[in-house]
Amino acid sequence: MGKLQGKVAVVTGASKGIGAGIAKSLAAEGAAVVVNYASSREGADRVVSEIASKGGKAIAVQGDVAKASDVQRLFAESKKTFGQLDILVNNAGVYQFAPLEEISEEHFQRQFQTNVLGLLLVTQEAAKHFGPEGGSVINIGSTATTMLLPATAVYTATKGAVDAVTGVLAKELAPKKIRVNSINPGGVETEGVHALGIIGTDFEKDLTAKTPLGRIGQPNDIAPVAVFLASEDSGWLTGELIQVSGGLR
Ligand code: NAP
Repeated sequence: MGKLQGKVAVVTGASKGIGAGIAKSLAAEGAAVVVNYASSREGADRVVSEIASKGGKAIAVQGDVAKASDVQRLFAESKKTFGQLDILVNNAGVYQFAPLEEISEEHFQRQFQTNVLGLLLVTQEAAKHFGPEGGSVINIGSTATTMLLPATAVYTATKGAVDAVTGVLAKELAPKKIRVNSINPGGVETEGVHALGIIGTDFEKDLTAKTPLGRIGQPNDIAPVAVFLASEDSGWLTGELIQVSGGLR
């Protein structure tokens, strides 16, 4: 029997990248998974079919994490289909890099809306749906907050906020037996990273050179840690920030 048999998980931004990897791994351990996406219906459907082809349970639900009405619908549909909630993975996020002189209101708002407001709205709604046994919230931060690279001020600030929110909500939600931890990945090869044009550049080479284990990460490097944080194996952990980065800091 899988470690997450009988559990229900919502994974935001699971149509691709790290979120898709986590959704598939949670399902492989027996969880029924809600695969949230913003615009990539095809990607989300692919993740759902892959899970179903291995005997797992999943549905795709569209919803912008930064819109309260979408978030309410996401959890209403999840509850209607699977009847409960045990695990939330706050993975949906966007990244855009710019030096100080190029920071605009749009650059700031897009990243803060999704990475910080979205995470808060989703967790707020999820907190209403966890049962009396509580649950596990897994935020996806970033090693950006310890690397402090030039030209990443806004993105790094959003992930600094995620680190802080993880610590605050771990205390705030503990009375409801809801644990809140963060996975902070280093560089991970995903559709988003490809779209940004990082792969094959000097930036990627530099990142790899600074990674003690000597390569860029893959979604499958991150997903087992999410399974651990979702399961009772981590039942005495809350408020932790776990760098999952091949040693990159
Ligand atoms: P990705 O390949 O670009 O995928 C992003 C996912 O988030 C997609 O499923 C996308 O959905 C979804 N999304 C974006 N905005 C959304 C919104 N407003 N509402 C709902 N879903 C939304 O990204 P990734 O590289 O896997 O990154 C995932 C997370 O890991 C992010 O929080 C990122 O900051 C963090 N992270 C990534 C790395 C890395 O090197 N890749 C390193 C550290 C941390 P649609 O496709 O449907 O729009």
